[in-house]
Amino acid sequence: MNTLRKAAAEETLDPDDWADVQTLSHRVVDDAVRYLRDVRDRPVWQDIPAEVKAFFESSLPQGPAPLAEIYREVAENVMAYPMGNVHPRFWAWYMGSSNFTGALGDFLAAIQGSNLGGGNHAAAYMDLQVVNWCKEMMGFPASASGTLVSGGSMANIIGLAVARNLKAGVDVRELGLAAMEKPLRFYGSDQVHSCHRKAMEALGLGNRALRRISTDAGLQIDITALREAIAEDRAAGFQPACVIGTAGTVNTGAIDDLQGLAKLAAEEDLWFHVDGCIGALLTIAPENKYRVAGIELADSVALDPHKWLHAPFEAGCALIRDADAHHATFAVTPEYLEMTPRGLASANWLHDFGLQTTRGFRALKVWMALKEHGIEKFGRLIDQNVEQARYLTMLIEDEPLLELVAPTNINIVCYRYHPEGMDGDMLKPLNTEIMLRLQEEGTAAISDTTVHGQHCLRVAINNHRTRREDLELLIRETIRLGDEIANTSAAD
Ligand SMILES: *Cc1c(COP(=O)(O)O)cnc(C)c1O
Repeated sequence: MNTLRKAAAEETLDPDDWADVQTLSHRVVDDAVRYLRDVRDRPVWQDIPAEVKAFFESSLPQGPAPLAEIYREVAENVMAYPMGNVHPRFWAWYMGSSNFTGALGDFLAAIQGSNLGGGNHAAAYMDLQVVNWCKEMMGFPASASGTLVSGGSMANIIGLAVARNLKAGVDVRELGLAAMEKPLRFYGSDQVHSCHRKAMEALGLGNRALRRISTDAGLQIDITALREAIAEDRAAGFQPACVIGTAGTVNTGAIDDLQGLAKLAAEEDLWFHVDGCIGALLTIAPENKYRVAGIELADSVALDPHKWLHAPFEAGCALIRDADAHHATFAVTPEYLEMTPRGLASANWLHDFGLQTTRGFRALKVWMALKEHGIEKFGRLIDQNVEQARYLTMLIEDEPLLELVAPTNINIVCYRYHPEGMDGDMLKPLNTEIMLRLQEEGTAAISDTTVHGQHCLRVAINNHRTRREDLELLIRETIRLGDEIANTSAAD
């Protein structure tokens, strides 16, 4: 008791001297501005030297260290070795290139520190506002609901979970899938993103519950084959539940016939989910929005503000037309999370719309950049990337040593170096070597894939910093490296 009454030296994580922190923070911001301003002058990516890798094995710090020293270590060891997706010549896999305003939003969100599990506070209202803006972009009714999540994979899980619960015909939340008489079946094309497999597994349905339907020459789902698969499944005692349309496949950017799928889903009484992680935002691009006509008919859409809105990671969004079905899939009210008539817990119980309880303030970074530039500019940037992909396609077609491996739909270009007389078996190692040297020399980051059995280099232009000259450089360097590698291996 006595010791309790003695004034203890109470500690806090706040600095002893706020003025010091202020000075250092100004330097951090100055460096950050230069970092993005000069990104074009640095290599896209570089391998991490062994001594820097060793830095990441330093032991758990027991005592304090000066913040300025810590910042120096971060600048040297972390900031110097990025993935590279903020660089104008990063076109690997599929991701956005971030933006400074969004980074400020992330910083301010962390300073305010609010938990978006919910509540009667500004961040929660802004979270809902950004969801409403996404609904507006997709042409969804105001009565629809949605939630900001970590990314497209989680956004897809949210949509598919609602589909599962609604179509199960039993109370899956209470009884589980074991209570179902007929196993559910979901459908997507053979180009469907791998996150849907994970979703099927996590939802307890199993990978085989997702039937991959064949695609046509344009890599769009074959709707006739889909219709047949559904009939076959019904006859075999399965319960068709959901069709997943892809608006922009990850391999080639192909967009399924969304209007056709919406019609089929209505006829067959299936949930219609659209994986729009790549292409949903085409709805805001004046020249290309026609490509995703029908997305507004979906029961649920997954979209990715950290792709074509270039929000700093992470920001995904799930939209559900039937707000009640959405709420009924996730809402749980334990005694410690009851709402109150007034006060902090009187509004916006956002954890009722997803799997997370605590949620970060993702909305601010998206909101600030949208306010700064306006949606029209984001739409023009999307059109610009599509135009750049068309330009790159033309450069490839004009070049006898290169060939397109898949039709270019939107902003993804699949091509390979293919000199006359070289046979198929040699092309994969040769093109892989080109890709690796482009990365290692810091010129460009591209990835590879296989389309209809053919290996190819893959350029996904989801980047507001890319210029045509960057694509011209890519083509010159692909040919230079291809020639160099082909000649060395010929000499071996
Ligand atoms: C990127 C992507 C996903 C996964 O989204 P994340 O944000 O990476 O989780 C899903 N589907 C498609 C078509 C994608 O391109």
